[in-house]
Amino acid sequence: MMAAEMKRVRDETHSVEGGMMDWWQGKRIPCPAHLRVALETAVDDQHYREARFLAVLGVLVALISLTVDLVTIPEHFGVVAIVRLMVTAPVLLAVLAIPRSRLALQKFLLGAGLSALSLTLLFASGFAPPPADSFMAVGVIMMLGIALPLLPFRRRGILLFIAAVLVPSGILVIFQQNAEGYAETFLLILTLVATGAGVLARRFRWLDRRNALLQLQAEDRARELEQSNARLTELSMLDPLTDLANRRWAEKVFERDYAASSEDAPGLTAVLLLDLDHFKNFNDRWGHELGDKCLQAVAEVLRHCAGTHGGLAARFGGEEFVILLRVDDVAEALVLAEQVRVGVERIEIGHGAKAAPVSCTVSIGVALHEAAGRAVMGKMLRRADEALYRAKSEGRNRHILAA
Ligand code: GH3
Ligand code: MG
Ligand code: MG
Repeated sequence: MMAAEMKRVRDETHSVEGGMMDWWQGKRIPCPAHLRVALETAVDDQHYREARFLAVLGVLVALISLTVDLVTIPEHFGVVAIVRLMVTAPVLLAVLAIPRSRLALQKFLLGAGLSALSLTLLFASGFAPPPADSFMAVGVIMMLGIALPLLPFRRRGILLFIAAVLVPSGILVIFQQNAEGYAETFLLILTLVATGAGVLARRFRWLDRRNALLQLQAEDRARELEQSNARLTELSMLDPLTDLANRRWAEKVFERDYAASSEDAPGLTAVLLLDLDHFKNFNDRWGHELGDKCLQAVAEVLRHCAGTHGGLAARFGGEEFVILLRVDDVAEALVLAEQVRVGVERIEIGHGAKAAPVSCTVSIGVALHEAAGRAVMGKMLRRADEALYRAKSEGRNRHILAA
């Protein structure tokens, strides 16, 4: 197989593979080409929601931490509160105000806000007397470790965030007077937590992406199935030769649109039953193939005539058809019947360059029923059939109104 072909097959594969180590080895999750845009949008949507959630959480942590400061470092509370709220709150609140279309800016501000929050927390721990300073500093580092896998960043974003927090935190830890004795220990804890949390964060993002893809694929397959089911239903309701509705469909449509009685419904429900004249002779003389062409041409005429009156044309079987529709009055039904009769009469089916085209005629029985009352298709068909029988016996190529 050519390389390009192999790539195409790989791209279009519907399976979401991925062993335990794929995420770590940097293997991309195979995504069918037509779902790529949807997948990126789904991941971005999720990131947008998570960024807003984390911004709210960050503001809450900033507020709650002030109470901790009040208890542990009351004498420095003023400066700590001002630094923390002035630095973090506006940035995190801005994250909430940014629209979905500015996702990159939103993520940048979230990263900046959370980095600032963790640095101000570490900064506050510098004012606490030992051993509270160590507990506070370790607490901040742990919190950061827990928060990191939740961050709505892709791989590069996670690394950037770790660097943005790790480097200034390390500098703070080293230069904070109270933490002097523990500087190496803090740095070790910070590095271990950042590395572990970084690995976890990457794994979480990989799983998020895979879940989003699985969901999209499930929806995609459900949609495909729905479409093919709808197509199958349609096919089972269509007559294959003429593409008209079949008897089953016509009966369903009658039940749905014409049967129910509704007192204020104006006009009449009309059923036109049509049968081609001497069609057996037609077949015997011109052949079955031409007979089929004739049926198709008749179907076109019926589709057109019924369509212009908002009705439905169906092939009932063999060379019999029906038209269902609502008409304002008897005259309209008879005008339509005449249109159909003339339309069929004018059909010319060519068969060979030299031979004259052949034609056919149709007889029609018309049954009407007050639209306001409940109509039963079987009864209307019986009346239409009686009228059709009369049309046949009176010479064919005509329409008769049922009694
Ligand atoms: P009438 O005017 O009394 O209706 O005479 P008729 O010959 O049309 O009536 P009959 O019921 O005796 O014959 C119907 C013919 O329709 C018989 C059959 O060969 C033909 N027919 C039914 N279905 C098809 C079809 O799908 N294709 C073709 N070519 N002919 C069909
Ligand atoms: Mg017949
Ligand atoms: Mg016939």
